[in-house]
Amino acid sequence: MGAVLSRLEQHEIVVHPNRRLAEVRPDGLTFVSAFGGKPYRTEGYDTVVLVYGAVPNGALYERLRAEGTNCPLYIAGAAWTPRRIAEATQHGARIGLII
Ligand SMILES: Cc1cc2nc3c(=O)[nH]c(=O)nc-3n(C[C@H](O)[C@H](O)[C@H](O)COP(=O)(O)OP(=O)(O)OC[C@H]3O[C@@H](n4cnc5c(N)ncnc54)[C@H](O)[C@@H]3O)c2cc1C
Repeated sequence: MGAVLSRLEQHEIVVHPNRRLAEVRPDGLTFVSAFGGKPYRTEGYDTVVLVYGAVPNGALYERLRAEGTNCPLYIAGAAWTPRRIAEATQHGARIGLII
């Protein structure tokens, strides 16, 4: 974390903590305070990159389970629940050992 913050500082990245993006318009962005709901308007951006968590995609697992099979079925890692790589791969390793 410290290394990341240090790099952000070196590159003069401005961080606006505790604000949720509410609106993207050609002339600017609106954020609202995550706590009080106070709006903040900012201008001068040409690109917006959205990075919002992750959702699992268990569609194949669900489909195979619904179709029914004699083979044991497992869903492992981030497909079951998105999380950090250590936990996801540990989960996958446990299932690998069961198989
Ligand atoms: C943008 C981003 C940044 C991240 N940064 C970090 C970080 O800094 N630190 C950290 O700990 N974790 C981070 N993670 C989380 C980390 O990437 C996951 O925890 C980890 O990759 C999960 O491993 P996995 O093997 O379960 O799934 P994956 O790594 O997603 O592997 C699943 C594989 O299965 C393949 N696949 C999917 N469907 C099929 C199919 N039908 N047939 C065959 N193959 C298929 C996919 O192509 C993929 O190669 C980040 C994730 C994202 C998206």
